[in-house]
Amino acid sequence: MDPNDTYLRIEGVHKRFGAFSALEHIDLAIRRGEFVCFLGPSGCGKTTLLRIIAGLEVQTGGRLWQDGRDISLLPPPQRDYGIVFQSYALFPNLTIADNVAYGLVNRRQPRAQIKARVEELLKLVGLPGSGGKYPAQMSGGQQQRVALARALATSPGLLLLDEPLSALDAIVRVHLRNEIHALQRELGVTTIMVTHDQEEALSVADRLVVMNHGVIEQVGTPMEVYREPATPFVAGFVGKVNRLPAVAEGHRSFACGTMKLRCADGQGGDYRTGQDVMLYLRPEDRVMLNAGADHPDRCSGRVKRIEFLGGNCLAEVDAECLPGIPVQLQFSLNQMDEFNVREGHRLDFALRTDRLRVFPK
Ligand code: ATP
Repeated sequence: MDPNDTYLRIEGVHKRFGAFSALEHIDLAIRRGEFVCFLGPSGCGKTTLLRIIAGLEVQTGGRLWQDGRDISLLPPPQRDYGIVFQSYALFPNLTIADNVAYGLVNRRQPRAQIKARVEELLKLVGLPGSGGKYPAQMSGGQQQRVALARALATSPGLLLLDEPLSALDAIVRVHLRNEIHALQRELGVTTIMVTHDQEEALSVADRLVVMNHGVIEQVGTPMEVYREPATPFVAGFVGKVNRLPAVAEGHRSFACGTMKLRCADGQGGDYRTGQDVMLYLRPEDRVMLNAGADHPDRCSGRVKRIEFLGGNCLAEVDAECLPGIPVQLQFSLNQMDEFNVREGHRLDFALRTDRLRVFPK
């Protein structure tokens, strides 16, 4: 993927519904072949932005280009995309084959060619030979595969996915998201998926567009967004995080509880002495210490509560160096045994100050 090869450009797009501003000045460039997720809480404007790209909603201002073509005011049929909605939106009275063929029939392609293409698409989405069935005879996951085949039928330049997995149960959802990811890689089609599920977005996206209240808070790879959140909102919305109130004490140095913590260069350290700040730290960003070991940022405390998350757990610790600020530390199940992480047990650890992010309070 060439980072300079912009396929979709959005410039200064905004959208008002009456007096309500749903999107404010959106600038975004999406590369050819990229898988981008619009991620954000309910009502942040991600579906509205997707619908504007599709021409299903008209922006109040700003412009859009797809593959160099100004599409700002083109009606949907004149744009080049396939779309999948949360609700499958299949025609219940048409067979699966006719549903998939819908866009091809509209383009008046020869019947034999359409038939071959439909079978090819059904194979592509893992449903070979199901063309004669009706939507009601298929599960939710299967119907969504059909919707995907229909969206890809005309080989569009852009695939738009509006929360395509949120109506499915957890196991089917993970399965289908992996398949969509593999399919996108195979076809190389530029793809935008709207989701409010951070795990889903982190697992499939080349880049995330994190939105809140109608603005883009950060655009970056999943790793960048997770490791270097640009704003407190992003730090809190993507992944778990500890928020530690602190007071700035000169360059990159902060008083936090009874500790003096120094954060790494570039993590946001230029605060005036005495300024209230909030330090953000992921639960896995800790080092365990042996009982007698010497460490400048040593913390000790009792495990108050353990939250199991499957393959790992979060231990809430009341540390003496952080009075009144419970801190969550993450452990794999093997590490729980290794460090004797049990409710009521003491732990000795240090926070990884090289991973601290600092924001004004
Ligand atoms: P969700 O995940 O709940 O779908 P979203 O991030 O996709 O949320 P949008 O559907 O884009 O959010 O809506 C953004 C805001 O615009 C919301 O506050 C919504 O109520 C408002 N909105 C969307 N469509 C309309 C409309 N046609 N008329 C008035 N307000 C609207």
